[in-house]
Amino acid sequence: MNQPDASLVEMLHYAQYLAEFIAIILVSGSLIGYLFYFGVIQVISGRSTRYRFRAKNEINVLWTASLGLVAAGAIFISAILIKDRDLTNALALSMKLILPLGFAFLVGSAINTYLRIYYPSILEDKLAKIRFKERKAPSGKAMRLLNEEEEDAYLTKEMIHEEELNHFDYDVWLDEDTKVTVIEKYVGNPNKLCPSCKFRTLRLESEEDEGKYTTQKYKCTYCGNKETETVEND
Ligand SMILES: [Zn+2]
Repeated sequence: MNQPDASLVEMLHYAQYLAEFIAIILVSGSLIGYLFYFGVIQVISGRSTRYRFRAKNEINVLWTASLGLVAAGAIFISAILIKDRDLTNALALSMKLILPLGFAFLVGSAINTYLRIYYPSILEDKLAKIRFKERKAPSGKAMRLLNEEEEDAYLTKEMIHEEELNHFDYDVWLDEDTKVTVIEKYVGNPNKLCPSCKFRTLRLESEEDEGKYTTQKYKCTYCGNKETETVEND
């Protein structure tokens, strides 16, 4: 085996330390970023604010933190692979650099697919839990969430108009004893009105194109009611 020259060995040695250092920074950064996000969620007061914050940021935060961890993993693997410092075989050395890149690409793509395709419905369930969590009046009694038919009596004309345009969706919580209400404002959603519970929480679960018709399956995130609709294709 040829003896690689000393300066090259020293350079690789340095590169390895640097790689480990960067990997540790990336792991710490990702974890701190995620924990900070989680901490912010805990201290946000008001369920509609918390709802908006998570709806807007959660997927981006998870993706950024995952990217950091995947990059750290790839750099760490590189650092381990070049540890033996066998520089005599250029093919082996380049394989050692391609391997971590392949790893990063595969794991990164898998996480990206998960966050884009599967996670949105998981997030929507979490958001529904925030939005429909039991609300207590100062007396300690549970307030009642009014449905789309009942709530209009407590909304202004402008609010009703905004709901009709689907710009915003208002939730009205009523304390039956004192008639005190709490109104929460949400960004309008594409959900349909659920015929069972009368909330705008009927979510499209799947769509199947059957040539002449499309079958749409809906499920209500509030009461669990399931509906199927068949629409004619153009
Ligand atoms: Zn329902």
